[in-house]
Amino acid sequence: MPDDIHDIAREVAIVGGGPAGLAAAEVLAQAGHAVTVYDRMPSVGRKLLIAGRGGLNLTHSEPRGAFLSRYHPAGHLDAAIAAFPPEALRDWCAELGEPTFVGSSGRVFPQSFKASPLLRAWLARFDRLGVRIRTRHRLAAIAEELSSADPGDPDSGAGSPHLQLYFETPDGPLVARPRAALLALGGASWPRLGSDGRWVPLLEGLGVAVEPLRPANAGFTVAWSALFRARFAGAPLKRVALACDGKAVRGEAVITAAGIEGGAVYALSRPLREAVAARGHARLLVDLRPDLTREALARRLAGARPGDSAATRLRKAAGLAPVAAGLLREAAGAALPAEPEALAGLIKAAPLTLTGSAPIDRAISTAGGVRLDALDGRSMLRAHPGLFLAGEMLDWEAPTGGYLLQGAFAGGRAAAAGLRDWLRGAGG
Ligand SMILES: Cc1cc2nc3c(=O)[nH]c(=O)nc-3n(C[C@H](O)[C@H](O)[C@H](O)COP(=O)(O)OP(=O)(O)OC[C@H]3O[C@@H](n4cnc5c(N)ncnc54)[C@H](O)[C@@H]3O)c2cc1C
Repeated sequence: MPDDIHDIAREVAIVGGGPAGLAAAEVLAQAGHAVTVYDRMPSVGRKLLIAGRGGLNLTHSEPRGAFLSRYHPAGHLDAAIAAFPPEALRDWCAELGEPTFVGSSGRVFPQSFKASPLLRAWLARFDRLGVRIRTRHRLAAIAEELSSADPGDPDSGAGSPHLQLYFETPDGPLVARPRAALLALGGASWPRLGSDGRWVPLLEGLGVAVEPLRPANAGFTVAWSALFRARFAGAPLKRVALACDGKAVRGEAVITAAGIEGGAVYALSRPLREAVAARGHARLLVDLRPDLTREALARRLAGARPGDSAATRLRKAAGLAPVAAGLLREAAGAALPAEPEALAGLIKAAPLTLTGSAPIDRAISTAGGVRLDALDGRSMLRAHPGLFLAGEMLDWEAPTGGYLLQGAFAGGRAAAAGLRDWLRGAGG
């Protein structure tokens, strides 16, 4: 260990001040632990604040079974969400002076539609609880010092390896020797907000298996014609249904210069991503009139005035917006079918070839991460007693709709409870 590294108190360390790490810090401080939160950025909660720009969709109000079915893999967060369900998250917000409401889509937002008042109130609570927050501290290495007492027993904190967390700080390197640590370092999307995925080699160096970090809730690339791109990049595709590999969702999408993105695309991002990985491309079927059956649509098209141009038929008889008609032509590749049945079929399932994912730094969230089988039921690394993990750095994913933040809050709290119980078991 270099000489200029100084020691700090043995305590509980949380590394990563996003929603998962902060939720964990709150539980542990309330349980009476001396908690220090470390974050590499000049302030904590930056991704939470960016989420606030979209209104801060905190969670969702749908029935519990449907809610839990959004998470992949199934079951991983069930116990954490049972312990801190959407209603508890809403109560917690209200206690911090930010009451929530359920929007027409079932999504839950703070009445202020902002994240900053919530984060401010939360940080004030940390002040009262005596939680120390050390910003501009980047975790750069993790080491373990074997204790002679009982090195192999994961249930005994007294005999566990002593953790050493090495940080880079503006004042030089610093080492923390906490009694236990909880890492919540996030994924790799929007790296300028702090979570940049550079923790992967740190954990792999400890022998922890990490699935490659990949974009989730991300757009996909499509080789649009120059004409379509120039005319429609940025245009919303409203009230469509998208399908891939038998999974269908209704919602909205947005045409981008590079391809397609938006809520309905994000909801399918896992099957689409897996298809691209397996076959080099994915087929996305776009139903441009999900409210009409194919037969009804064919009848409408058949009833169009004989002299109408194809464009007029699409606009008047099929009710397609210009962007939808343009997309239909992109999907058809050649001339549109003249026969009403065939044209209706195309409108109900316009096939798009997606050639790849948008880059991870533009994705809303991250798939991949530390393999869940590396953790025990308390969210502690099986091979590294005293080291707990939570949040988006773990290999689970969920669509947008509030599921990501709910998963981060609930997962952070559950891991903190695991850490607290482990320290109790250790006589701590
Ligand atoms: C634009 C955008 C909008 C979003 N909107 C929503 C929404 O409305 N609803 C929703 O549910 N979800 C939303 N999300 C997703 C949600 O914000 C994340 O899933 C959530 O923040 C993950 O929480 P986390 O605590 O696991 O990780 P993060 O919030 O990413 O926090 C990780 C923290 O770890 C720190 N860190 C990383 N590496 C180190 C290191 N080596 N040393 C020290 N510190 C480190 C980072 O600086 C960061 O502060 C949105 C995401 C984006 C990008």
